[in-house]
Amino acid sequence: MIKVICALMSVLGILSPFKQVNTGVPVWARFGKDDGVFARVNTEEKVIALTFDDGPHPSLTPKILNILDEYGVKATFFVVGENAEFYPQALKKIALRGHEIGNHTFTHLAESSTNCDKVKEEIIKTEDVIFKLTAKKTFLFRPPTGYCCDSAVKMTKDLGYKTVVWDIDTRDWAHTSPQKILSEVRKYAQNGSIILFHDFIGKDSPTPEALRLVIPWLKSQGYSFLTVGEMIGLEN
Ligand SMILES: [Zn+2]
Repeated sequence: MIKVICALMSVLGILSPFKQVNTGVPVWARFGKDDGVFARVNTEEKVIALTFDDGPHPSLTPKILNILDEYGVKATFFVVGENAEFYPQALKKIALRGHEIGNHTFTHLAESSTNCDKVKEEIIKTEDVIFKLTAKKTFLFRPPTGYCCDSAVKMTKDLGYKTVVWDIDTRDWAHTSPQKILSEVRKYAQNGSIILFHDFIGKDSPTPEALRLVIPWLKSQGYSFLTVGEMIGLEN
């Protein structure tokens, strides 16, 4: 369902963060850390964060967790509340394997200037689901589609959240080839980069194979992997 919505938005050109990333000015460029918004972290340390949106998924999430374990990488998963309710075991696995969990609303609801109350309601509902299933409280929020509006940015900040977007979009959701994903990462990776992947994509997700290319390459360049929360702690 989420994939269909994302694809539809992309086709219609609505809230299409994917066109805004890597080229042109992203929609969140007018926000910064004073607003609690991070597209990357300003640090001189050679660190990077992998993030996974839209899950948990009953098979893809565990598959990705196994690959992360193989390489000893900790990542951040921005989960959709209703998926967490559908697949509680997958959500629990994310937490048990030591990864960070972030909030991605309950129904993958994109922000707009008129639905701030509804977004707030969904953040709180998702927060409750995450806590009930993992006993963990998250302070990271990723707006679905990456679209940020002033009222919602202020609302999430008032709720105590950091809004986390990204500076590298792998476009894995569009079934971009693993090789192409690697070449994008090679082009744009820098200290403090936040890389966007998804762990809820229909069949034939390129993500597992892409991780097997991207992680070793980043390691070969001297990067170490932090969760987004850890990396924000390094912000200059
Ligand atoms: Zn999403």
